[in-house]
Amino acid sequence: MAQPHLSPPSDFIREIIDEHLRTDRFRGRVATRFPPEPNGYLHIGHAKSVCLNFGIAAQYGGTCNLRMDDTDPAGESLEYVKSIINDVHWLGFDWGNRLFYASDYFERLYQFTLQLIQAGKAYVCSLSAEEIREQRGTLTQPGTESPYRNRSVEENLGLFARMRAGEFEDGAHVLRGKIDMASPNILMRDPVFYRIKRATHYRTGATWCIYPMYDFAHCLSDSIEKITHSICTLEFENNRPLYDWILDQLKLDSHPQQIEFARLNLSYTILSKRRLIELVNQRLVTGWDDPRMPTIAGMRRRGYTPEAIRTFCARIGVAKNENLVDFSLLEHCVREDLNERAPRVMAVLRPLRLIIDNYPETQVEEFECPSHPQNPGMGSRRVPFSRVLYIEQEDFLENPPRKFFRLAPGKEVRLRFGYFIKCVNAVKDPKTGKVAEVHCTYDPETRSGFAPDGRKVEATLHWVSAGQSIPAEVRLYDRFFQISDPARDGDDFTKHLNPRSLEILTSCRVEPGLAGAASGNRYQFERLGYFCADIKDSSARKLVFNRIVTLRDAWAKISEKEKK
Ligand code: ATP
Ligand code: MG
Repeated sequence: MAQPHLSPPSDFIREIIDEHLRTDRFRGRVATRFPPEPNGYLHIGHAKSVCLNFGIAAQYGGTCNLRMDDTDPAGESLEYVKSIINDVHWLGFDWGNRLFYASDYFERLYQFTLQLIQAGKAYVCSLSAEEIREQRGTLTQPGTESPYRNRSVEENLGLFARMRAGEFEDGAHVLRGKIDMASPNILMRDPVFYRIKRATHYRTGATWCIYPMYDFAHCLSDSIEKITHSICTLEFENNRPLYDWILDQLKLDSHPQQIEFARLNLSYTILSKRRLIELVNQRLVTGWDDPRMPTIAGMRRRGYTPEAIRTFCARIGVAKNENLVDFSLLEHCVREDLNERAPRVMAVLRPLRLIIDNYPETQVEEFECPSHPQNPGMGSRRVPFSRVLYIEQEDFLENPPRKFFRLAPGKEVRLRFGYFIKCVNAVKDPKTGKVAEVHCTYDPETRSGFAPDGRKVEATLHWVSAGQSIPAEVRLYDRFFQISDPARDGDDFTKHLNPRSLEILTSCRVEPGLAGAASGNRYQFERLGYFCADIKDSSARKLVFNRIVTLRDAWAKISEKEKK
């Protein structure tokens, strides 16, 4: 039994399952499945479905199958299968030995079709796709019955066998369910179950030249696997009568309940495999795992944690009506998780040399710096300090406006974990006129970070020691799209890509302790945000960090403006 206090808050799907358990509809069983088509990488929308299906199975002590819904050879591949397996595992879910492929059911689906034909519930139709479309009717007008609708069982069996045997051209015939051309539900107007399509399937190769349609294959795959609750997104609501019709005609014992929920829509994001493929193909990203992509692979590389994604999915919950979830909520979950687990370090992204004129020239001291301000259990590290430091260019202004609290000529600030320093002057590069270095003095009495005389400073700056710090590349990622609803112009969505979604800084300096940063390690760079050593490009020879998320939400104001 699931512990009540560990269960997520109930929702309408769990209520339906509770009711089924009460009425013993499935003899106490709860069996779900996550059925991706391996024609692209999983995105955060899929994560919602993964968390829901695996979460329900875990909560009710049931099972959740991972099923590759691979019945359409176009676009499916082993690369995608591998990525799906990897991503669902990474999200923290396990399917034991219950990995299935709908393509393994091709023969059984064929046999089911023969049963339908024999029962007079399916026929071979020789109209073209175009004609079938034209004769389907509209919402207000019934469709027209196909002239092939009353072929005899024998003729249908013969033609269908010859379709399978490859005797006909692609599109010459289809196999249709014989349901009701006047049904108010257009999907019930003799839907196509099989089409002839000569294509090499990534698993079955050229074995088949007829392939089942989604509506036909899906319900039967669910039934074969003895699924009890077939959870899918809202756009399949009208498909449910067809789902039930097929299983009813075949009088199958295992008849799952299809339940629809609202898909995840996320602001500033595109969640459609078809469009994500376009970004990859047009090379607008470096690949499916580009850290700006809303794919699980992209988010993993960016540095998001599976815990944060699972928390996000739990917070958004499941409902029956479509809505748009704010991207800030996802970032909030990421920050919340990283705030707890990411050790603090210091890094300077745009270095400005700072010289402490009264600090002994060759001296290097080490400060013992806690790795987490609230969690002593995370230990500490030693950070070298010397006469020449780097600070952030933006932390110094020669002619500061009134409210600038950081470093400026004559002003005193605290260095994180260290002394107070006071700016004496700035030296400019004679060629560019830009500030090249800043000279300061330090107060040796302020080693603790506080002045014995009680005087206060208005800012604390992060820094690294010039001599001991090490170089790094930092990739500043930002939102991928610059408007909240990038899908509003349909296929023209790429024009809304944020041109500043990636800025690469190549002369950053980080504290020496990061020399051993294993790829995938996550840190808080003090005052800057959360960063992750890139799992592909970072190495001991060249450190590369991705910005996972800033410390605060800089987009809140922008979103407000957009609303006006
Ligand atoms: P896309 O719309 O991105 O092309 P899809 O629905 O075609 O995705 P599938 O591989 O068929 O992709 O999806 C596998 C499962 O994930 C399905 O059960 C589907 O309902 C679910 N799913 C897909 N997108 C979302 C989403 N945005 N929110 C919640 N569930 C989703
Ligand atoms: Mg789909």
